[in-house]
Amino acid sequence: MLTRRGMLGSVCKQCLGFSALTQAPLALSQTSSEPAANSAPALPGRFERPGIDTEEGGLWGMMDREEAKLRRSPFVIRDLALTKYVQDIACRLAADHCPDVRVHLVRTPLFNASMAPNGMMQVWSGLLLRVENEAQLAAILGHEIGHYLERHTLERLRDMKNRAAFAQVIGMFGVVGALGQLGVLSGMSAFSREQETSADRAGMRLMQSAGYDGQQAARVWDNLIGELKIRGGEKAGSRSPLLASHPPAATRRDDLMRLAGDKSGETGTTEFQKATALHKMTWLQDEIKRGQYEESLVLFDRLIGQNPADAQTLFARGEVYRQRDDKDDPQLSIEDLSRAARLGNPPVEVFRSLGLIYKKQQDTTLALQAFERYLAAAPEAADASLIKNYITDLTP
Ligand SMILES: [Zn+2]
Repeated sequence: MLTRRGMLGSVCKQCLGFSALTQAPLALSQTSSEPAANSAPALPGRFERPGIDTEEGGLWGMMDREEAKLRRSPFVIRDLALTKYVQDIACRLAADHCPDVRVHLVRTPLFNASMAPNGMMQVWSGLLLRVENEAQLAAILGHEIGHYLERHTLERLRDMKNRAAFAQVIGMFGVVGALGQLGVLSGMSAFSREQETSADRAGMRLMQSAGYDGQQAARVWDNLIGELKIRGGEKAGSRSPLLASHPPAATRRDDLMRLAGDKSGETGTTEFQKATALHKMTWLQDEIKRGQYEESLVLFDRLIGQNPADAQTLFARGEVYRQRDDKDDPQLSIEDLSRAARLGNPPVEVFRSLGLIYKKQQDTTLALQAFERYLAAAPEAADASLIKNYITDLTP
């Protein structure tokens, strides 16, 4: 089971840290106080593979092994077109470093991305479900590439100076086979606040240089704040030592907005939606399975607000209401599912859920109609025989 801290941990540690942008910038980030993210020094040259007998070489070797494991993992999303789409965005941001960045998409319903020192980049499906366009995705990838270019992991390892630090790095960048392991991740300290600040600045610079709308970086954060708020707003820190020890998330959002300035750029909304369309239903269902209904409802409200004719997300919200089953939930569920059913090409699952609700309410006629429509649309469904049994039982 995934804990609440699991999600927080992944958001914060790997590594959208809750840092302010007001601290001393490092190498890639610019040194003057005001925006001009593009006036920063040039990117460092590509890194040579470090010698096997060095600390950094040892780290790379471990990351190579993790990457080999990741390639075999059942959690990897094996969609060449989507992987290429994300890889191309990473390349556009990383410029000359493009050949060193290897994108792996991972099916895990949490907001997370990371880039290991050897160039292995992971992007999780929970992030892809939550970002609204290509520019928002670029904001996160740019931030991770910023950590990579500034070699923050190595810096961090040297700070920690102990063997346990290596284990932490593996935890940060390695394969998360099962969600249960996230509890371990959330207890780690990954990057320092200074490093987070620096990576935010570098990310802004990279995304704006690549032609993206920098303000979208702030939007990502704003959207996450919305989800976190549902657990108690500003007091979220009382549930997580991590949040307690960092400045309020709103600070970061505001700082990113200031860094972005008024420079315009692409958002790439249509491109992003097209690239991810095939997977969206699966990612919505994975999100529902987290069992964090309140957070999911915030997310689904936002997505439906942007596109009221999004039948898949209407189904997802209706399904959360159906599963939560609080006082008004059955009615809210019926409203969403019926709305989805009236749209062109609704997901077939809409009719199964409607059937289940009506069955529970002992509305035999409507339950039968919904189940029959489900079977007509999905005669080969895995649960077809179960639904047939319901129909037999309900038929007068
Ligand atoms: Zn970070």
